Amino acid sequence: MAQNHYDVIVVGVGGMGSAATHHLARRGQRVLGLERYDIPHVMGSSHGINRIIRMAYFEDPSYVPLLRRSYELWRDLEKSAGERLLVVTGGIDSAPERHQVFQGSLESCRLHGLAHEVLSGPEVNRRFPGYQMPADHMAVYQPEGGYVMSERAIVAHVGGAIAAGAEVHGREAVEGWTVLDDLVAVRTERDEYTADRLVVAAGAWNMGLLDVLEDLAIPERQALAWFQPIEPGKYQPESFPIFNIEVDEGHFYGFPVETVPGFKIGLYHHLFENVDPETMDREPTAADEAVLRAATERYFPSAAGATLSLKTCLFTNSPDEHFIVDRHPAYEQVVFAAGFSGHGYKFASVMGEILAGLSVDGSTKHDIGLLRLGRFAE
Ligand SMILES: Cc1cc2nc3c(=O)[nH]c(=O)nc-3n(C[C@H](O)[C@H](O)[C@H](O)COP(=O)(O)OP(=O)(O)OC[C@H]3O[C@@H](n4cnc5c(N)ncnc54)[C@H](O)[C@@H]3O)c2cc1C
Repeated sequence: MAQNHYDVIVVGVGGMGSAATHHLARRGQRVLGLERYDIPHVMGSSHGINRIIRMAYFEDPSYVPLLRRSYELWRDLEKSAGERLLVVTGGIDSAPERHQVFQGSLESCRLHGLAHEVLSGPEVNRRFPGYQMPADHMAVYQPEGGYVMSERAIVAHVGGAIAAGAEVHGREAVEGWTVLDDLVAVRTERDEYTADRLVVAAGAWNMGLLDVLEDLAIPERQALAWFQPIEPGKYQPESFPIFNIEVDEGHFYGFPVETVPGFKIGLYHHLFENVDPETMDREPTAADEAVLRAATERYFPSAAGATLSLKTCLFTNSPDEHFIVDRHPAYEQVVFAAGFSGHGYKFASVMGEILAGLSVDGSTKHDIGLLRLGRFAE
């Protein structure tokens, strides 16, 4: 075969693509990962140091088996990379009692026998003094909650992939692909390649590479803030669980101090700005900061010190906010991972295994029924 021919080409070496490249290479595939920016970079969806991971899943309990495998694979990656990538802090899902953030989390715990405690808002505040939850809140505390070091984990996945024989090219954007009989031809800004199979994991750029995703994977601008705690002891990984809270101002999530010496907070769907990732303004604004500071002052008052860092980032939302992971309906040699809707990174490790399975075996042992593309046509 020609030098530019591979078993599998992976488009996009971010959260999902780095994991897919890793798993494919470890399965003995000759794999090429193509990334338009650096490894890692700050233009997509996986930067900003870390991402929450939690087992009790308010979004839908059917994610829990995938999460069990994700945790195992993050631990495996830590061992092979010789690096701390998953930090367990415990997790709080706090909301008015009838809200999905509380009820859905509790349902996941009950259906899957997950370790948890139910706490009232005031009980959360007594146990974790960095919190100031409203009196009418109910919370699920899950001891397995924590965070994954997302930027480092991309590097670890790529490092493992290269060690297993993968080729990875940064700063090489894919311009298009076509299926020619049994081959997939991929054209980049530098070269042309062929492969037996293609994995597309281009995050916020997926719609431009996959016509079947039209209107199904919409990029949305997000912001993150790090504030210097006034009482740092309350916001350390040992003293402060990661959180999802549903409050008057919206659905916030956050982290204890990690790497940047600041408490980190974000707001789901931030200012509801759908954007084009090519033209989006990535510079954070005073309005971004004000929304995140106001919530910090109200719900985590001893964290609301000086601003240390602000970043923007991209969600890519599907219509039902569940992921879209499938084989291309017209081309069985093409698989894709899209629409991670602001909660995908924690699954990247298992997505690598799923994408490798779909690509090499044509199927996966994991139940991904919820994630089929076909649900939008029903
Ligand atoms: C602010 C914020 C907070 C979040 N918090 C959490 C959280 O706490 N927990 C959680 O689980 N999830 C969270 N998420 C969601 C999670 O980060 C994403 O679901 C995940 O990172 C998506 O990974 P991806 O591989 O799809 O995208 P990316 O990591 O962006 O990867 C896509 C890659 O494709 C590359 N690419 C695109 N087009 C091309 C091309 N033509 N050629 C070559 N390469 C290309 C891009 O450059 C990029 O590197 C958050 C997201 C944001 C933005």
